[in-house]
Amino acid sequence: MQTTENPAQAVDQKTTTQSWRERASEELEKIIRLFSTTQLPDLCAKALINAPERPSSKWSFGNQILMLLTGTSDARGYRQWMDVARHVRQGSKAFYILGPVFVKKALDYTEPDGEEVDVLVGFKAIPVFRYEDTEGAELPAYKPRDPPPLLNVAERFGMRVNYLRLSAGVYGMTDYEQQVITLATPDWTVFFHELAHALHRSFEPKTRHNQEPEAEALAQLVAATLARIYRKPDDSFSWTYIATQASSATPREVGALCMRVLDRARRVLDLIYPASDAGR
Ligand SMILES: [Zn+2]
Repeated sequence: MQTTENPAQAVDQKTTTQSWRERASEELEKIIRLFSTTQLPDLCAKALINAPERPSSKWSFGNQILMLLTGTSDARGYRQWMDVARHVRQGSKAFYILGPVFVKKALDYTEPDGEEVDVLVGFKAIPVFRYEDTEGAELPAYKPRDPPPLLNVAERFGMRVNYLRLSAGVYGMTDYEQQVITLATPDWTVFFHELAHALHRSFEPKTRHNQEPEAEALAQLVAATLARIYRKPDDSFSWTYIATQASSATPREVGALCMRVLDRARRVLDLIYPASDAGR
């Protein structure tokens, strides 16, 4: 049985033959290549999801994206996992994030005792491991005191619901690829809004949150309707989209738009309350 002082080397032989500097430039190239893909905005959106207790919440945006590329939303160093009573499974491979390397340089080289500044001279690769490659104690999860109704409907449509912190001003987000609704607030209406998007997509799969104003109007209408049904009326939703259209389109066009939104809202509500549930 082989033992070693450095667990990162034990699980990734490649690092022994490759300098940290080369490794870092490989990671930098990955970031650069992303700029020529359509995947980048999706990754940026996912990087807005944050859990304050995860060390990665303090990483640079670029490192968070390198992490998301490996298919996890929680990566930590070997010892950081041990600190939360989890350990890296044998045979797991590390991946690398980039730590900036600074050197002190004189602000004015003609003045030897003058002010010094930190200058970025490069990056070093830091090995970290995915949550999925660890085992041990469960990590604590935030649960709202008063969870919203209809969580079972989300489940019925294959969506998991998670509570995590999101970037300032963002309270709900749905990852359709991973089928996860992430909420950063106990506010029921935010869940209803994301649920409406998810159900809407079951019959119009191309629709996404914030990408189609008409779908926003629909999700807002469904969320406000559900809030009334569950006696938590919410006045925060707006008719901005419809109002904007009303000022530039003909009455017939606006009328047709309203009918479309109403029709789809009804279809979403029918999915939540199938005929067999009527009267419940
Ligand atoms: Zn939305």
